[in-house]
Amino acid sequence: MKLPYAESYKIKMVEPIRKSTETERKTWIKDARYNLFNLKSEQVFVDLLTDSGTGAMSDRQWSAMMLGDESYAGASSYFKLKEAIRDLLGFEYFLPTHQGRAAENVLFSVLVKEGDVIPGNAHFDTTKGHIEFRKATAVDCTINDAFETTKDHPFKGNVDLQKLKTVLKDTPRDKIPFIILTITCNSSGGQPVSMENIKAVSKLAKDHNIPLLFDSARFAENAYFIKIREEGYEDKSIREIVKEIFSHADAMTMSSKKDAIVNMGGFIGFRSEDLFKKASVYNILFEGYITYGGMSGRDMNALAQGLYEGTEFAYLESRVGQVAYLGQLLLEYGVPVQFPFGGHAIFVDAIRFLPQVPKEQYIAQTLAVELYIEAGVRGVEIGTLLADRDPITRENRFPKMELLRLAIPRRTYTNNHIAYVAAALKNVYDRRDKITEGLRIMNEAPIMRHFTVELEKAE
Ligand SMILES: *Cc1c(COP(=O)(O)O)cnc(C)c1O
Repeated sequence: MKLPYAESYKIKMVEPIRKSTETERKTWIKDARYNLFNLKSEQVFVDLLTDSGTGAMSDRQWSAMMLGDESYAGASSYFKLKEAIRDLLGFEYFLPTHQGRAAENVLFSVLVKEGDVIPGNAHFDTTKGHIEFRKATAVDCTINDAFETTKDHPFKGNVDLQKLKTVLKDTPRDKIPFIILTITCNSSGGQPVSMENIKAVSKLAKDHNIPLLFDSARFAENAYFIKIREEGYEDKSIREIVKEIFSHADAMTMSSKKDAIVNMGGFIGFRSEDLFKKASVYNILFEGYITYGGMSGRDMNALAQGLYEGTEFAYLESRVGQVAYLGQLLLEYGVPVQFPFGGHAIFVDAIRFLPQVPKEQYIAQTLAVELYIEAGVRGVEIGTLLADRDPITRENRFPKMELLRLAIPRRTYTNNHIAYVAAALKNVYDRRDKITEGLRIMNEAPIMRHFTVELEKAE
């Protein structure tokens, strides 16, 4: 018998969580204006809002924190992190930032100007936000297969090379500051990019003399998928694959809250000293001096250790395996889920789940609210609310997919929690015909509205 994957760690410390009643949850979600970001964490039983900063640190990370050097300049923690980044990712220069979007803010302050065009694979929302905030345009060149949830494709994060070529042909070179590859591709469902595709994009970028950037939050999960799915990589270690991925990068931004398994932190990796120096000016302005940039010494220590733990095969196998366990249960219950399963989350196809709810009534958000009421499980909408309005026409942008994302925090929940979530969603699925009304916006922010939007029942 094939042995099941088992966690590559055991539990040393626990945190209590509390169940609530359906009556309580109905009141709470109404008071929260049907926005799950507005719930208090005590009002949630299993929190799958995000895998960002919600992971459990190891005993080694906690002990590294005790050794944090809190010197303003030249702290040993900075050099420890610098060494980990050089060793694992191969970047000579780096800047710490307080999280991933801060890395984007600093780097894009140097690189992006009004009127620029930035092609990539389904840019993450903060990335797109930082591009559009500078009056530039993000062009999504993801393969079409990525947007068909039932289509089996091992690398749905891939760039459609033809789409990219068209952008490169139609746009003056000086309007394209860089091409960006998001690994794994969060917005298309935590789907990986193949090494073959990375190489092809890198070649196109070189041929056109355009830098290639990696938005790297889940680079280790991407490397894991390359190892298990791509021919020629089965015998390579995760760290060898990671090195090869970043050998194609001119720079990278990192949200360390994901694959580096820390609660806060980010960084920028650079190959060019010149770019590093230019970005340093903005880092000092926005984040902090270049040897801490918004992070305390102890947090840099935990991050350096987390980078090593996050790139271990045994850990990645149990992590991606737990996500697949949720996907497999939902598949067995007949719930429409995106296929193949992503690295950090299961994406429920809300349009197929609730075909009777009109798209103007925020289908995936409606489903997220129902799942919360059912069992106190908090997921998140990846749909029309997240897509924001068109910055010029101010019309709603209706994305091709309306997804409910169930993101799994790293090393945080047991498989019993996962089974609980699957059963809760099955119960909602069994009563789906009774869910006929969606939601309507009462108030929204001009950009990144999903965090603060206020909704009411559409009626
Ligand atoms: C989370 C994330 C970011 C932003 O990072 P924060 O740490 O949340 O600021 C950027 N890109 C991707 C792909 C992400 O997943």
